[in-house]
Amino acid sequence: MRTSLALAALVLALGSSVAEAQTPPPAFELALRESDCMDAVHAALAVADEAPAPEPPVAPPPRNESVTEPVAPPPTPPPTPRVTVPRDRTVASLSEDACLGMLRSHDVDFHRLDPAEARGVGIPIRLDGPLAGITVRSRGHSELHEIVDCRLAVALLAWAPELHEAGVVEVHHYSTYRPGARVGGSRRRSGHANALAIDLAVLVMRDGSEREILTAWESRARGAAPCDDDHDEGPESASLRRLVCSVAEDELFQIVLTPHYDAAHANHVHLELRPGVSWQYVH
Ligand SMILES: [Zn+2]
Repeated sequence: MRTSLALAALVLALGSSVAEAQTPPPAFELALRESDCMDAVHAALAVADEAPAPEPPVAPPPRNESVTEPVAPPPTPPPTPRVTVPRDRTVASLSEDACLGMLRSHDVDFHRLDPAEARGVGIPIRLDGPLAGITVRSRGHSELHEIVDCRLAVALLAWAPELHEAGVVEVHHYSTYRPGARVGGSRRRSGHANALAIDLAVLVMRDGSEREILTAWESRARGAAPCDDDHDEGPESASLRRLVCSVAEDELFQIVLTPHYDAAHANHVHLELRPGVSWQYVH
C-alpha cells in the first residue's frame, strides 16, 4: 500500500502525462499527506540512486602512432633514351641529308620549311615533337622564333640523354631564329640569323619545377670562367652549370655565353654552332 502511495505521489509531484491520463480516485487524494509526498519522492530518488549507472561510452582503441601509412614508392624515372648522334663539333658541319637522316632515325617529329619562310637558314625545320623525350620550345610560343636549323636540332638531340638524366623534360628558350640578327653592338652576323643558336632560359624538371637561368644560375661573378669548379653556389646551380659545361667541354657548341659574360646574358645561356671553325669561345 505504501509503495502504491509513493508511486502515486511521485506521479503527482512530477505532473507526468500518466497522471493526466489516469486521474487517481478521490480516496487517494485525501490519503496523501505532505509527509507521504516527501517519503514518496525520497523513495523514488533512492530507487534512482540504486539504478545501475549507464555504461560509459566505449572509447575507440588508441591509435597506434608507430604504425605509419603505407607510402607509395617514388615513381621510377623513364629509361634514358638511346641516342646515336655525334656529340662534338662535327655536328655544326653536317650535310643536309645526313642531318635530316639523323632526326628521322631517332623518330623526331618535324617538318621541313620552305627556305623563303626562313631567310638565312641553311636547313630550316620546325620541331613538332620532342627530341628524345626533351621538348624544346620558345618561352613565348613564337612560331617565328622557334624555327631551327636541322644541325641545331641534332646538337640538342645529342644533349638530350644528359638532360633526361638530370630530370629535365622541357627546354624553354627566348629564341633560336631572329631574321637578320647581329651580334650586339657590332655588324657581325649572329648565330640567331641562321637559326644555329639557342638562348636557353628555363629548364622544366620532371616534377614540374623550373630552373630559370636568371635565378637558378647563382654565381654572378662577371668575367669568371663559367666552367671552373670554383663557384659559390648551391647544388641545383652547380647541376645546371655542369649541364651547360659538359656540352661546352665536348665542343658540341662553338660559342657559349653565360651570365658571367655580360648583363645581356643575365637571364640566358647562348649556345651557338659555328660551321667550319676550329676555335671555341666559352665565357
Ligand atoms: Zn643568343
